[in-house]
Amino acid sequence: MIYPKCAECKDKPCTRGETDPSILPAFCPIKNHKEVIDEVSERYASSDIYDFFLKSALTEKQAYEPEPYRENEIAIPVRPRVKELSAFAGLIGAKRLGLAFCSGLADEAGRASAILRDHGLDIVSVVCSCGALDKTALGIPADYKMRKPEVFEAACNPLLQAELLNRSETDFNIIVGLCVGHDMLFTRHSKAPVTTLIVKDRFTGHNPLISLYTRYHRFIR
Ligand code: SF4
Repeated sequence: MIYPKCAECKDKPCTRGETDPSILPAFCPIKNHKEVIDEVSERYASSDIYDFFLKSALTEKQAYEPEPYRENEIAIPVRPRVKELSAFAGLIGAKRLGLAFCSGLADEAGRASAILRDHGLDIVSVVCSCGALDKTALGIPADYKMRKPEVFEAACNPLLQAELLNRSETDFNIIVGLCVGHDMLFTRHSKAPVTTLIVKDRFTGHNPLISLYTRYHRFIR
């Protein structure tokens, strides 16, 4: 298989509707996987996907000032992601949302919960340390603890977070700062669709973009 490498494509001609193979890079999936594009395009016709997809497009459109803007003019955004989440919930008819959050971002989770409740949503929330289990109780070796091996250290419990939100029948779930790995386990075990409000990045104050914009971070190994 010729693997897609869109991140390495300088000009991204697909954004202008270009499909001429002579101007597409060698790793371009438009050039190499036309049959996949055709097959996947048909999937959007399924009613559950189409409705979700349509409301996603509308959410994107409504994220900008409503005035039509001229060609090449930058559209002006009008709302933050937390507002996007409640707007999207309104469009798809979601009433109960789940928050799966890290205890290290408990304050932020409380703020997010309060804002979303103010927007009329029922918020169910589960912290990562729910269950109050020591890491060793879930099979983590004691010397993997961050502090002294004999001292209690709460295990992150993404499967429990997913299970409690599954039983709460949330319409979709929102990640607030789960660790790398735990976030994937949570996503894999959540029955409801999962989106992210805050991505954890301890080093940058949860703003991983900073690492991409400063040359100093490039040399961190
Ligand atoms: S789809 Fe093709 S043209 Fe578009 S970014 Fe990827 S490699 Fe570039």
